[in-house]
Amino acid sequence: MSDFRSDTVTRPTDRMRKAMASAEVGDDVYGDDPTVNSLQAYAAERLGFESALFTSTGTQANLLAIMSHCERGDEYLCGQSAHNYRYEGGGAAVLGSVQPQPIENEPDGSIHLQKAKAAIKADDFHFAVTRMLSLENTIGGKVLSLDYQRQARKFCDDHGLQLHLDGARIFNAAVKSGCDVTEITKHYDSVSVCLSKGLGAPVGSLLLGTKAFIDRATRLRKMVGGGMRQAGILAAAGRIALEQGPHRLYEDHENAEYLSAGLAAIPQLEINPASTQTNIVYARCRTGRASQLRDYLADLGIQVTAGDPIRFVTHLDVDRQDVDRLLGAIQGFYQS
Ligand SMILES: *Cc1c(COP(=O)(O)O)cnc(C)c1O
Repeated sequence: MSDFRSDTVTRPTDRMRKAMASAEVGDDVYGDDPTVNSLQAYAAERLGFESALFTSTGTQANLLAIMSHCERGDEYLCGQSAHNYRYEGGGAAVLGSVQPQPIENEPDGSIHLQKAKAAIKADDFHFAVTRMLSLENTIGGKVLSLDYQRQARKFCDDHGLQLHLDGARIFNAAVKSGCDVTEITKHYDSVSVCLSKGLGAPVGSLLLGTKAFIDRATRLRKMVGGGMRQAGILAAAGRIALEQGPHRLYEDHENAEYLSAGLAAIPQLEINPASTQTNIVYARCRTGRASQLRDYLADLGIQVTAGDPIRFVTHLDVDRQDVDRLLGAIQGFYQS
């Protein structure tokens, strides 16, 4: 069996399970869980922020970020394809009364800063108050350049906006950019990070920012039902993910590149190998039989996401052999 649907499907390693079993715990709502406290302190230091908050999901971390930066009736600028606009149930609007102002993403995943500028509302009571810009890195597996992120920081400073990064896969971005993660995080007021994707933890995300920001987010986390008790059980695995996970992400990128080249050699698929930058590969089915392909692969024990395009994600639990088996199976499908 191999699962290319997402890097969220990884199972905790033996080392994680052992750490979870023996984790020292306390009631984290009282601030008493030493394993959570130590993960938060380590994460803040590792990512270059004053404070960090352990959250149940990346969706929750993004929601808390938006609600902590913005008041009811404010708005945030984000990409049309931003996770925190499209894939989070409209939480910012529903739970935060914060209006998203989406802007079409450029092909490289960035938001053109001229377009962002045009979307900032004038100080007029007809309009929502534009409070922040939210970027995503990686976005659809693509990496924002360090230079672009520097410009975005300046743009936000010039216009009095907060700058948030949905950094669900920020370590993939750092690996691809060939820099320490702090070279990315230093541009942002807040960052969310998923421990449960390529880093391999079973559950959990982090939100990072100043102490005042994290204090506000902690209050809001309780409000949305995210105050967990002996959460050290989860944080123990999260700590291993954060410490060890980044070192092997390059393998996922290499496997994705290898897969990408293999798919490009299949005439029935349309793929731009240059668009494979990290651990996500997209391929369009020229014959339009994506769901048949998915079912064919599923019968062979290989799972993929059959949208248009089809998405393949590499991670901890798929290796080069799995990629070869996937490529062989796809060739088999087109020959059958
Ligand atoms: C996965 C993901 C999230 C959050 O996901 P959860 O499933 O809620 O942990 C946020 N942003 C991006 C870009 C993601 O890929």
